[in-house]
This record gives sequence, C-alpha cells and structure tokens, in this order.
Amino acid sequence: MANSKYEYVKQFERENYLLAETWIVVRVDGRGFHRFSDRYKFAKPNDARALGVMNEAARRVMSMLPDIRLAYGDSDEYSFVFARDTELFERRESKLVSTVVSTFTAMYNMLWGKYFTKTPLDEEMLPTFDGRAVVYPTARTVRDYLSWRQVDCHINNLYNTTFWALVQQGGLSGAQAEERLRGTLASDKNEILFSEFGINYNNEPEIYKKGTILVRDLSILSGREGDQHERTELSSVVSTVGGGNGGEKRAELSQRQKQREQKRRRKAAIVELHEDLIREDFWDKRPYILL
Ligand code: ATP
Ligand code: ATP
Ligand code: MG
Ligand code: MG
Repeated sequence: MANSKYEYVKQFERENYLLAETWIVVRVDGRGFHRFSDRYKFAKPNDARALGVMNEAARRVMSMLPDIRLAYGDSDEYSFVFARDTELFERRESKLVSTVVSTFTAMYNMLWGKYFTKTPLDEEMLPTFDGRAVVYPTARTVRDYLSWRQVDCHINNLYNTTFWALVQQGGLSGAQAEERLRGTLASDKNEILFSEFGINYNNEPEIYKKGTILVRDLSILSGREGDQHERTELSSVVSTVGGGNGGEKRAELSQRQKQREQKRRRKAAIVELHEDLIREDFWDKRPYILL
C-alpha cells in the first residue's frame, strides 16, 4: 500500500507519547455497571462472583503485559501501574489504553461463565469497559493515586454495607435508606450497623473493605524455577536496587542485570492481596514494585 496517492491521509494521525520517566497508570471502569449488576442479579452490596471475574481478568492482563508492576481493583474498576521505564508501544497512549481495555474486556467476557455458571451473558447487555491513562511523576504520587482508589473503595463499601443492611434487614425502601444516611459520618454508619444489625464492620471480609492488589511476588520464586542459584541472584538484584535512592542505583544496574531482572519478573507468580496499601509497611516490604 506504500506510496499510493491516498497515503497523505496518514498525516492526519496524531500520537500522544506519554512522558518518559513517569509511571503510566491505565484505569478501566465498567460501563453502566449499576444497571448491569441489576440485570445479572449481583448480590448486594458485594457479589463475590463478580469480583472473581474482575480479579481473574486483571490477572490475565498482567501476565500478558509483564511491564505492569501492580494492579489494584474494586467494584467495576481496575488500575494497572506500569514500570516507570516501560517502552511498551513506545509509550503511545492510544495503543496502551486500547490494548489494556480490549484485553481486559475480552477476558471478562470469556471468564464470565466460570463464575456465573447459571447466568449466561445476554447479547443485549454485554459487559464493556472504558479506559484512560494518567502519568504520575513520583513514587509518592503513584502511592497517593492508589491510596485514593483504596479510600474510595472503603467509603463506598461502608456506605453500601449500611445502605443494604437498612434495606435487606431493616425493611426500608431504597429512598428511605438513602434519606437515613444523608449527612452521616463513618462513625454513624458503624454505629447503625452495630447497634441495629449486630454487624461489626471491622469483621467484614478484607476483599470488600480493601479491594484487591495484584503484584508479582519477587520474594518467592514458584515451581522449578525457584532453585537456590536463582534465589541468590534475585536477592542480590533486589537488594541492589531496593537500597537507597532509586534513580542513582538504577543507573548502576548493568544491562545484563536488567535483563535478568526482567526475566525474573516475568516468571514470578502473581499474588492477590487484600491489604492496606496506604501504610508505609506495604511498600517497605516490596521496594521492587516502584523501582
Ligand atoms: P459508569 O458507566 O459511569 O461507570 P456505572 O453504573 O458503572 O456508571 P460506577 O460508579 O462505575 O457506575 O459504579 C459501579 C456500580 O456497579 C456500583 O455502584 C455497583 O452498583 C455495581 N457493582 C460493581 N461491582 C459490584 C459487585 N461486585 N457487587 C455488587 N455490585 C457491584
Ligand atoms: P499492530 O499490533 O501494531 O496493529 P498488526 O500486526 O495488527 O500490528 P496492522 O498494521 O494492524 O498490524 O495490520 C493488520 C494485518 O493483519 C494486515 O497487514 C494483514 O496481514 C492481517 N490481516 C488483517 N485482516 C486480515 C484478513 N481478513 N485476512 C488476512 N489477513 C488479515
Ligand atoms: Mg462503572
Ligand atoms: Mg466504577
């Protein structure tokens, strides 16, 4: 097709190359999932099957794109954090976003039947997702981004847990429950749950309160790859890069070490956590995520 008289139209294309040396975060969010969750009769406030589909779809995306360092999801959304130095698709925004969204959507559709065994998808209402990319300039802003999403999960879950207790156990209508909760603080909601329904919010499942974090576990290598030789090499790479100021240390890594490290990341098992990622502790234990 090269050199046809039509080729000039190529000049109309515009590419957004996402800023180098920044963390790219792609977030996908289900389109119209409020209605979608009604149509497929999700359990309220939390349908464990629906979270299962989301989490497995995200895990598949992460294994297909080894440059994704961490994924965080709750409700109908998932955020994928890429390595700061990723060169995937030359950092072209439309390629990155469309690939993540379409892979996630394809996986979600494919995995649906494994979790919703008695409820096939209806072509009149198929699950679709939108997506966007944002770049963050420092490890602090990436952490604050993830903290923002986790706090959002917590606020929504406390609200939804109380709302549905008022409706399902308290016999209120949706409108009445909404009215009852207007202007209430977190402490009021905890109190309603405890004194009226005997629910201690602290004892609710962590996956609902904290959402889901997917990370590659570089502290343990799974299966036969995990021989002693590789463990030793890995720990030396992790301690080299983990210690001190990331920028300078990264420059010291030889090309060969970098390749080895990439290979290890690809091989590492992806683990699912439901922890507090706002706390310092989470990152102290895993310095390699935001290297
Ligand atoms: P938009 O297209 O603007 O994103 P939306 O209807 O998807 O609109 P969201 O703010 O994304 O709105 O909210 C998603 C909704 O999906 C939640 O409010 C909740 O009703 C429902 N939902 C998602 N996951 C679950 C789940 N695991 N269990 C129960 N309900 C869920
Ligand atoms: P990228 O991921 O960068 O888009 P690509 O391999 O998909 O890479 P495109 O420029 O999108 O490259 O080109 C699509 C290619 O897919 C075509 O060049 C052709 O080889 C192949 N292809 C697409 N549709 C058909 C088809 N119906 N029959 C045979 N080959 C096809
Ligand atoms: Mg949505
Ligand atoms: Mg949402």
